[in-house]
Amino acid sequence: MSEHRETRVIGIDLGGTNVRTAVVNAQGEMLARDQGITPAKEGSDAIVKAILESVGRVLTQAHMDASDLGAVGLASAGLSNPETGILYTSPNLPTLKDVPLAGLIEKELGKKVFLMNDANAAAIGELYLGTARGARNFIYVTLSTGIGAGVVINDKIYAGSAGLASEPGHMVISDEGPVCYCGSKGCWEPLASGTALAKYARQCIQEGIKTSILDYVGGDAEKVTAEDVHKAAQAGDALAREVIARTAYYVGVGLANLINIFNPELIVIGGGLSNIGDMLLEPAYEEAKRRAFPQMSDVVRFARAELGEDSGILGAGIFVLRETKGLGRL
Ligand SMILES: [Zn+2]
Repeated sequence: MSEHRETRVIGIDLGGTNVRTAVVNAQGEMLARDQGITPAKEGSDAIVKAILESVGRVLTQAHMDASDLGAVGLASAGLSNPETGILYTSPNLPTLKDVPLAGLIEKELGKKVFLMNDANAAAIGELYLGTARGARNFIYVTLSTGIGAGVVINDKIYAGSAGLASEPGHMVISDEGPVCYCGSKGCWEPLASGTALAKYARQCIQEGIKTSILDYVGGDAEKVTAEDVHKAAQAGDALAREVIARTAYYVGVGLANLINIFNPELIVIGGGLSNIGDMLLEPAYEEAKRRAFPQMSDVVRFARAELGEDSGILGAGIFVLRETKGLGRL
């Protein structure tokens, strides 16, 4: 076995809809990529099987077998313990509860599997290969169906005492706010995520506010998504613009909290909702800067994530290379 082959690893991104896998080399290049369906409702056996099938396909593409691999990085949404490899709970994978996910895959592949939170993986991806290259203290925030984040302090993911940090999607923004699936109330996620934006738009429509948003969903308010609201806003619809402005306000309040706690040099924003772009992000940044201490607002930069939907697989791969090979800066 050549040294070159030994430095190849697999990055896996387990999401509620898709399981993505990639073979990544020590230069952070993706040598092969696969995408399969996550059988999210079918339980841990079916999910593990789907992961292993995707790994099998990506290895075939790269003309490798599992014995050629250095190790495996597995990124998943939800609360997981990287020390034990146990996934406690995940909003996107409701059938998984306290599952030793890393161990189950390790047993099949015969290789060490590192389990991590998907937003932490994406933060590592952006640090090595994306928009956060050169930064030492930054926060990656994904605005998506939910809100996730990875906090990087002095080049390292801040993991907390049990490896569970960070979940700012559940910091309380408004105690009067909507009930959150986590059991709390007024969390950032049910106020500022893509799900929250669409839900608020639907509420306004059901209250009878006139809007062209319905033109994008054949008149069925139940089908309204954040993307439909964005389209209507671009066409000048007043309600759509108000819904986006309200979401931007809450995004900004949450970012101000992160700035005041961590004093980051950079905040990287990713996730599907960020595709709305300046209409959402500019007012959010302004709100954040207005609320945070000026001395901290003055030094923070905001940037869009560069790696898109590959941030998780690349970040999981890079994380493993860092852990097993002492990978320095690329
Ligand atoms: Zn919550």
